[in-house]
Amino acid sequence: MRLSITSGNRLILTLGAILVAGFLAVNLYSLRVSSDALRELLVRNTLPLTSNNIYSDIQESLLRPIYIASLMAHDTFLIDWMTSGERDPEQVQRYLQAIQERYDVFSAFVVSDLSHRYYHFDGILKTINRRSQKDQWFFSMRSHPSPYRVDIDTNEAAKHRLTIFINHKIHDQEGRYLGITGLGLEVATMSSLIASYKRRYDRDIFFVNRLGVVQSHVEEALIGKANINDREGIRTVADQILSGEQGSLRYTGGQGPVFVRYRYIPELDWVLIVEQPERSALASLRAAFYRNLAVGGGVTLVVLLISALSVHRFQTRLERLATIDKLSGLHNRQSFETLYKQATAQAERQQQPLSLLMFDIDRFKHINDQHGHLAGDHVIERVASLAQARRRGTDVVARWGGDEFVMLLSDCPIADAKCLAEQLCRDARESIEVPGCNRAVTLSIGVVAYHQGDTLDELLARADVLLYQAKGAGRNQVASDVGEHA
Ligand code: GH3
Ligand code: MG
Repeated sequence: MRLSITSGNRLILTLGAILVAGFLAVNLYSLRVSSDALRELLVRNTLPLTSNNIYSDIQESLLRPIYIASLMAHDTFLIDWMTSGERDPEQVQRYLQAIQERYDVFSAFVVSDLSHRYYHFDGILKTINRRSQKDQWFFSMRSHPSPYRVDIDTNEAAKHRLTIFINHKIHDQEGRYLGITGLGLEVATMSSLIASYKRRYDRDIFFVNRLGVVQSHVEEALIGKANINDREGIRTVADQILSGEQGSLRYTGGQGPVFVRYRYIPELDWVLIVEQPERSALASLRAAFYRNLAVGGGVTLVVLLISALSVHRFQTRLERLATIDKLSGLHNRQSFETLYKQATAQAERQQQPLSLLMFDIDRFKHINDQHGHLAGDHVIERVASLAQARRRGTDVVARWGGDEFVMLLSDCPIADAKCLAEQLCRDARESIEVPGCNRAVTLSIGVVAYHQGDTLDELLARADVLLYQAKGAGRNQVASDVGEHA
């Protein structure tokens, strides 16, 4: 089997390269266009919409406790109890218990600015201390510009669990500062809310305070500890996030580009951050791209296969047309010249005798003239099939032109070639008749032996001389140079 790149294979390879290149170009272009469109959609619509939805949800879930804390801070019972010297702490304890039960909250408390006592629904928890770092939230609250603040801290009343505190200032009727009341919410509640957003929107969602410290996150370990100013990637846009109201940004993180939507939530004094890595946003487009490539690759392969088969069929036909004589089905002159070279090379390599027959139909012109060209063609076909029938596997028969044929006999001494020529002569005489009359068709044959180094022309010239001898001697006979070598 030949493995060289034929012109047919080259055509298929070129066709394949054009198809693959064209297909890749179209798909890459459409991936780029749709990626750009999706990015635009993400920045303009999807992320702002997610952030707005969460914003309203948060408002709903956090504003209720803020509202309750505000109700407590303005409750006349609480104000009166504090202004009248915080007598009978059990009263406030019952009050806090009632609040906790009625509104189903995690914890409720009151801290007095006068006594520095921390009242909890379970009783007096402790007395707060100005020098304690843990109690600074209380002392900083007094100068806080708004009436309430949302803080994240560990809850001493609940096994130091991380808690969201809604701290609300209490003032008496004259506007004197009395202390703080409020509620504690479990961080887990907030985290599960964020986890549900993450599931619903398939995006990273978290909150930071104005300093950049994470306040709420699905990974609770980050809460109160991680800061976006220190986090790889996002720190490049942290300033914009922490100083702006809302907007869309883009930064490059460890996993590639990330789209960010931020929104300041004044009620919490937190910033909501919604993040979407470009990789995950474009994942479906990339999957479609690979699917298209697979389908296109398959189609290209089938097209190439069909083209290769067609080209191969045409090539075989062309090769046949170029090497086979149409009328006789024998090799033509060009093909014979190639086969002659192979046969002589082999004969010389293996030191084998090689013989050649040159035969011509006698008075063929007459057949044509008397019975027409079709009858002549028929006779040519019959002579060709007789020669084919006498041929061994390694022999080559060709139509040299007109009514003239050559037969190259490998590993065949001249004496055997002469015998074969005589058989052929007899075959023709006995089995071929001129169509339309019962006159026998005869052949004249020249038989020569190949001598080392003979060119085809030299060998044919000798055979031609002998063929003419046979014609001259009355036709229907064989002339050979067997005598010269016998
Ligand atoms: P000779 O016995 O001396 O060979 O006489 P001839 O009549 O056979 O003479 P020659 O070999 O020169 O004649 C060849 C003729 O064959 C001439 C040409 O018109 C005819 N011929 C050549 N090719 C074809 C062909 O394909 N079909 C037919 N029917 N005739 C052909
Ligand atoms: Mg002839």
